[in-house]
Amino acid sequence: MSGKLWGIGLGPGDPELVTVKAARLIGAADVIAFHSARHGRSISRGIAAPYMRTGQLEEHLIYPVTTETTDHPGGYQGAMEQFYEHAAQRLAVHLEAGRSVALLAAGDPLFYSSYMHMHRRLADRFEAEIVPGITSVSAAAAALGTPLVEGDQVLTILPGTLPADELARRLAATDAAAVMKLGRTYPGVRQAFSESGRLDDAYYVERASTSRQRVLRAEDVDDADVPYFSIAMLPGPRPTTPIPLSAGTATNETGSEGDSSLGTGEVVVVGLGPGASEWTTPEVTRALAEATDIVGYATYVNRVPARPGQRRHASDNRVESERAAMALDLAARGARVVVVSSGDPGVFAMAAAVVEESADPRWRSVPVRVLPGVTAAGAVAARVGAPLGHDFAMISLSDRLKPWEAVAARLSAVAAADMAIAVYNPASSQRTWQVAAMRELLLEHRKPDTPVVLGRDVGGPAESVRVLTLADLDPADVDMRTLLIVGSSTTTAFETPGGTRVFTSRRYQPS
Ligand code: SAH
Repeated sequence: MSGKLWGIGLGPGDPELVTVKAARLIGAADVIAFHSARHGRSISRGIAAPYMRTGQLEEHLIYPVTTETTDHPGGYQGAMEQFYEHAAQRLAVHLEAGRSVALLAAGDPLFYSSYMHMHRRLADRFEAEIVPGITSVSAAAAALGTPLVEGDQVLTILPGTLPADELARRLAATDAAAVMKLGRTYPGVRQAFSESGRLDDAYYVERASTSRQRVLRAEDVDDADVPYFSIAMLPGPRPTTPIPLSAGTATNETGSEGDSSLGTGEVVVVGLGPGASEWTTPEVTRALAEATDIVGYATYVNRVPARPGQRRHASDNRVESERAAMALDLAARGARVVVVSSGDPGVFAMAAAVVEESADPRWRSVPVRVLPGVTAAGAVAARVGAPLGHDFAMISLSDRLKPWEAVAARLSAVAAADMAIAVYNPASSQRTWQVAAMRELLLEHRKPDTPVVLGRDVGGPAESVRVLTLADLDPADVDMRTLLIVGSSTTTAFETPGGTRVFTSRRYQPS
């Protein structure tokens, strides 16, 4: 018995806008097939990724040409014909062998989609069924947040590739319109809106429903900055509520690759905060919910609630650059990757490794965002008052990535400058002598009664916070879940019924 061909509509870009039926069939199909340009990245695969199984067969149908330059004897049309013929033959081999094939289509499979080329070539011989999808027109209307058509108004869907005078004629004759296939066609589309007297009422929506969605007035769009995945919208009824316009006219971050990128693929480096989930920002929570892939040290990945369809790549805490490269590679293939750190991702954590790796020419076009978090120094300081209220330094005692001589020189310099110090990574099961060495160095500049705050697992289930003096600091009380704050000459500790309170005044008169 031969297999079945499914034309799967994936919706406009947000993986949550994939229908329940499409998600189920993507997971169940024997073969996942998708089109892509020659760079190999596939928007469709990125949208479908959360619903795919490991071990599924994949058919990558790579277009031979994306512009109208080809040396095929039949020109552009000839090259495309031949490509569709070959692609259909590849899918037919699976179908003949009894395998079900899910052919992915962004938006809806029968709405300006390459699915129809396969359907015309295969549906006469094999069983074929179409799963409709939410189109970009619906997503763009939702982005404007104003009714598109009402009553007996007429909606006209126009390809921006029509000549400008034809577009103008159609726009003048309709109540509402969506103009698709923008990009290099934009100047003509704008001219058509203007000639038909509708430019003032027209909007532009880029990458609707994705994390890089932008909404602008159609006349404010920069012609040089229009990707293919954008739409011009003319709502029928005059909007009665504000249109949520995007700030500024940010440039297209992906540069020359922008035309082929829906913007679903990106790396977001987040900090979960120290321990408690109340210290995870709403922005980070949202990024985690939208992720297709979570990458990070197992301890931190385990703090993220599991979501169906989301892949988790937990590793040990060594070789940060490999983890960063893996995250960038997944994103280049269309995944929405969240790299997790504890605390703030920019403080002795993954942000620097990811940004450093992203300078490699292979990854330059992959969007990278860093979302800040509450850092351990802030959390520990807050528990006792304000020991970091004046100038302070953050120093990691780890000599894994820098020599101990550098650590020692910095500790001495900061102590000599009379700044408080937040000490990260003070010890681990293998690194045990550094705290004692630090105490000796600091005692050369600081009095023995200088307040020291010892915060362990702050915000977590095993939280303990103690205030003691530099002389009494016992290295045996310090482990890798501890952060130390060593005061300056003006740091003061005093007793209250609720415990010791510590502050470093913002006024500075050295004694
Ligand atoms: N990015 C993290 C720091 C990672 S380095 C941040 O911004 O907080 C790891 C070190 O952070 C630990 O060795 C410890 O010194 C400190 N740390 C992290 N979470 C902590 C917590 N809940 N309580 C105390 N110290 C913590």
